[in-house]
Amino acid sequence: MTSVIESTISNAKDALISPWITQGMVSFSGQQLPDATAGRHGWILRADAKLVQIRWAIEAITSPELASMPPAKARLLIYRRALTLIDAEFGPINKKERESTARKLQEIALSLWRARHSASRAPISPADRLALIASFDKGQPYCWICGVRFSSSATEAFIRGKRFLSTSQLFVDFAYPRGRNKSDLAVTVDHVLPVAAGGTNDLDNLRLCCSWCNTAKSDALDVYRSGQYRGSYEHPTLGMFMLPSYSWVSRLLALVGACSDCGRNQADGPLVIAASSAVRQLNPAFLRIYCLDHDPWADERIVPAKGLP
Ligand SMILES: [Zn+2]
Ligand SMILES: [Zn+2]
Repeated sequence: MTSVIESTISNAKDALISPWITQGMVSFSGQQLPDATAGRHGWILRADAKLVQIRWAIEAITSPELASMPPAKARLLIYRRALTLIDAEFGPINKKERESTARKLQEIALSLWRARHSASRAPISPADRLALIASFDKGQPYCWICGVRFSSSATEAFIRGKRFLSTSQLFVDFAYPRGRNKSDLAVTVDHVLPVAAGGTNDLDNLRLCCSWCNTAKSDALDVYRSGQYRGSYEHPTLGMFMLPSYSWVSRLLALVGACSDCGRNQADGPLVIAASSAVRQLNPAFLRIYCLDHDPWADERIVPAKGLP
């Protein structure tokens, strides 16, 4: 008798090798996958796959002319398209359900549209910048995603609303090389609920983020559309790797946010990612998060910035 993992892997073969051949793809679409194939954080991959599917179904009714339309007209247009989409794709359903579904589609489609297309946001007031820093009490302020501690000069520049540039670092973490650019370790503000989705500048909707993580975060909607591997890298002692896209790492740090050995989080100190020795392609399924005390790559992590892709 073959094991579940063995039959899954052999059933995947045709679709993996020939994803342009209908038969193998149709047959694989019905395949159940053992959870272990998604690594420790399989829930992120599964939720993101569902988000891609539902996002496409919802955003299909938005279009470029919304940008130049008065809001009421845009709402009406989207509501009509929602009704048409329901009739064509999701019907038949009763009249009441059809209309309430269309209203929900309209509302979410418009938020998704605004989230992608309106970037304008009000600046954070100096008093609020100071309050954000002060909220760390006596502890050093840190990035909510990666836990990096902000330097006092970065913090001071942030409070004064000045641009912060450090000297670019010659040695960095090869898996998540923040510090290569002079602005990477600047303090930035991240909105918990995005501005475009109605998020405000109220203090409880703001959190501090290093500029590096904030940039990585803004590139990613889901792990399926957050860039591919960053490139290959030959580590002086660990050997060859395919390095992960920055947004894979930032998303994992943000969503999991705790050392896989001891559970300590960003409030306790910086977090890093590593993989077991069999894993050479650093992708979201097989990356793990560690605190600095449990970092399996503690001696190997920091490398010359120069050789990195
Ligand atoms: Zn960070
Ligand atoms: Zn730990």
